[in-house]
Amino acid sequence: CGIVGYIGHRDAYPIIIKGLQRLEYRGYDSAGVVLFDGDTMNLSKTKGKVEDLILKSKAEISTKGKLGIGHTRWATHGVPNDINAHPHCSNSGDLVIIHNGIIENYESIKKALAGRGYTFESDTDTEVLVNLIEEVKKKEGVKLGKAVQIALNQVVGAYAIAVFDKQKPDEIVVAKLGSPLAIGIGENEYFVASDASPFIEFTNNAVYLEDEEMAILRIGKEIKLRKIKNDKIA
Ligand code: GLU
Repeated sequence: CGIVGYIGHRDAYPIIIKGLQRLEYRGYDSAGVVLFDGDTMNLSKTKGKVEDLILKSKAEISTKGKLGIGHTRWATHGVPNDINAHPHCSNSGDLVIIHNGIIENYESIKKALAGRGYTFESDTDTEVLVNLIEEVKKKEGVKLGKAVQIALNQVVGAYAIAVFDKQKPDEIVVAKLGSPLAIGIGENEYFVASDASPFIEFTNNAVYLEDEEMAILRIGKEIKLRKIKNDKIA
């Protein structure tokens, strides 16, 4: 399983697809990608290989966009199929997430969210997490980074995640506990991946998140590293 993300001035699609291919050694059963082109979220995902994702995405979506995230899935909750493949969107359609790992207490969170009107398309633990982040963000009236921090403090499990909000497409928020997450820092661009191989030809300035760390990657700003447990996030 693997994750790749890009935000900056280059086309995200080829970086993400090539990156996912370099992470194929990690093993997976499905693959997916989402691109944001400043207007629409273009999402394509499939059971099978990155090769299958290339064929499907080229046929069904615009692959334009300087912001995007991609995923190879090793199913833990929900069978390997197109719907359970990542990325997963929140109910509003604004937030989108990729996740490697397991949310162990997803069932109780899912029940609580469902009781408050949330609906779910997939059987994954991941779709529960993105909706929890959305609910926190709305309820607390906080920015995405703060919402991710609050949500992750309600979660038991392991994760490397990358999430962005199409209403605020100048940032990607990432977090790690258990699964690996590397960040590549370029000039006015950020890369995210399970290891540095997807961005090695673009920058040698890499940061590896520690467990229980998160980062806010905003274009035009320095990387913001925070502890998930207790650091203040504005
Ligand atoms: N638990 C998530 C799922 O089953 C992520 C699996 C993975 O690490 O790829 O969809």
